[in-house]
Amino acid sequence: DPAHSSEQLAFQVTRNLAARSASERDRLLENPGFGTVFTDHMVDICWSEKGGWHRPRVQPYGPISLDPAAAVLHYAQEIFEGLKAYRHADGGVYTFRPEENAKRFNRSARRMAMPELPVQYFLQSLHELIAVDGAWTPSGEDQSLYLRPFMFAKEAFLGVRPAKKFAYYLIGSPSGAYFPGGVKPVTIWLSEKYARAAEGGTGAAKTGGNYAASLLPQSEAAEQGCDQVVFLDAKGNIEELGGMNIVFVMKDGTLVTPQSESILEGITRTSILQLAADRGHTIEERPVTLAEWRDGVASGDIVDVFACGTAAVLTPIGMLKGEGFADEQPRSELSLSLREELTDIQYGRREDKHGWLRRL
Ligand code: PMP
Repeated sequence: DPAHSSEQLAFQVTRNLAARSASERDRLLENPGFGTVFTDHMVDICWSEKGGWHRPRVQPYGPISLDPAAAVLHYAQEIFEGLKAYRHADGGVYTFRPEENAKRFNRSARRMAMPELPVQYFLQSLHELIAVDGAWTPSGEDQSLYLRPFMFAKEAFLGVRPAKKFAYYLIGSPSGAYFPGGVKPVTIWLSEKYARAAEGGTGAAKTGGNYAASLLPQSEAAEQGCDQVVFLDAKGNIEELGGMNIVFVMKDGTLVTPQSESILEGITRTSILQLAADRGHTIEERPVTLAEWRDGVASGDIVDVFACGTAAVLTPIGMLKGEGFADEQPRSELSLSLREELTDIQYGRREDKHGWLRRL
């Protein structure tokens, strides 16, 4: 089974001679924002039909040279992941359920007709990057090192078929608190004109095209004064936000989240629902219609609505806006208390009773 090799790769490490000084790094870590500061190195592994995974490297962070005919530039054969590394009080750097990201990466790979990366290689790439760039993991409140694994078709060929050459990369980007002034409820725009995914499509894969398709509706949301978009499926069922899953809290304490073949299965969502189940809450994963959401809020059957994902962890939804309506959303104590429990585990402030953390 190619996804379960136990073999260790021998990475060839080339140090970045232009690595930034400790003082320059510390200056950048003070206020890193999101997605604009990168560490000094990157990891890459090549794949070819003949040689499988080969040439594992750690090299200086920098531009990638690509043939203009590289298939990814034309047909978007590309997948990615996103996870965070956290600095704990013991000085160690930890990630959260990285095997789940590795497995999801391979589910995405299968859907996009790409080679699977052995889970072991995925995990090893995280260790390799932290070994050289661990110091880029910030230690401030709610700060983390965002890790971005990705894979793309680099074969130079304009025919439409799965490529025969791929590259896997891992880069790291220190990131600041998502909500510097404390968690703020978001306003959501209901996109009825555009879909993000369709039955039988690629919605469950973490592939660039899904995000490209979400950008125009996201701009429409911004024009309407909203922070994020919520997408429906063709039958009017709630799917998810552009980059977060959605959860409803019912009056009787049940947590309901959409079940759909065309949404991304969030690791944050699974974890939050597990923590809620540990507290005795009932969990339901089932289709949720827009009517059920709006009526439930109006009748008081729904008492809390939140979105969740790696970047923002958990963010309450303050308002749902759509063509001709704006529904204020209810709030309960539950969502923020689950957020706190999860971040306490991630940052090592609370016992990791499920064994979710991995030291890098
Ligand atoms: N849905 C989409 C479309 C996403 O991009 C993400 C972020 N990866 C999520 C949900 C949440 O997933 P996770 O909790 O694993 O970050």
